[in-house]
Amino acid sequence: MHQGKMLAELIASEQPCVALTGAGVSTESGIPDFRSASGIWKRYDPQEYATIEAFRRDPVKVWDFYSKRLDVLGKAKPNAGHRALARLERAGLVEAVVTQNVDRLHQSAGSRDVVEVHGTISSATCVRCGTRLEPDELTALLATSRAPECPACGAVVKPDVVLFGELLPVAAIERATALARGAGLLLVVGSSLEVWPVAGLPQEALAAGGVVAIVNRDPTPYDDAASLVVRGPAGEVLAAAADVLRLPVA
Ligand code: NAD
Repeated sequence: MHQGKMLAELIASEQPCVALTGAGVSTESGIPDFRSASGIWKRYDPQEYATIEAFRRDPVKVWDFYSKRLDVLGKAKPNAGHRALARLERAGLVEAVVTQNVDRLHQSAGSRDVVEVHGTISSATCVRCGTRLEPDELTALLATSRAPECPACGAVVKPDVVLFGELLPVAAIERATALARGAGLLLVVGSSLEVWPVAGLPQEALAAGGVVAIVNRDPTPYDDAASLVVRGPAGEVLAAAADVLRLPVA
């Protein structure tokens, strides 16, 4: 694929490369994204299911939504796009993956340095006393309760995803910003670049002298500023780039 070759050349020439991924890297694993025509926010109003106010108002309703997502995400497998990013990292051609996804598919595919700026869905934390529920404990509680309660104090726990209205984990967003500023190439994959502060990372990279490449099905606000825009499926495009670079598959 011609565009895979162009992307491979950019990755090789503009080191270090940092990947910034969004929901679009996981749609080929059967996980719907948020803002596309078939996205989650077309069926669920984020104000009712994904804000911190909604959680305070009606945690059972919010947990019903996240339990369904946890079921879907728990069964999903990494796709060629996740695997290509892990191949690039193993070859020293991707420094780290900054992801907005909470599905852990980058880690399952073998990526080692993954910065989760929107948290993870697989654990939960008590909003009252701070007790953390590990994935196994959370799964066990969800089997018997619609809104799992903290074993220490009895308050309803909150999934460790960043809800709208919450601050991003400070260490993760600081590391993501430093990576973007130090990147020769910020490779954006499957993100509408509409959710802040992550949407500011391409500008951080550009202002520090880096370049931006975008692999996304729909247009983004940064297309005009990007050195390369590929409108293809992320899995196919990234795998083509890794193949051009002759990177081992596993
Ligand atoms: P998005 O849905 O806004 O954008 C996904 C993009 O990926 C779209 O532009 C689409 O064209 C593209 N795409 C879809 N499939 C593709 C494919 N196979 N190949 C290439 N491109 C593809 O998702 P986003 O940018 O990740 O949104 C930002 C974040 O907002 C989400 O990751 C999520 O973490 C988040 N958020 C969610 C919650 C929540 O669920 N509670 C709360 C806060 C923020």
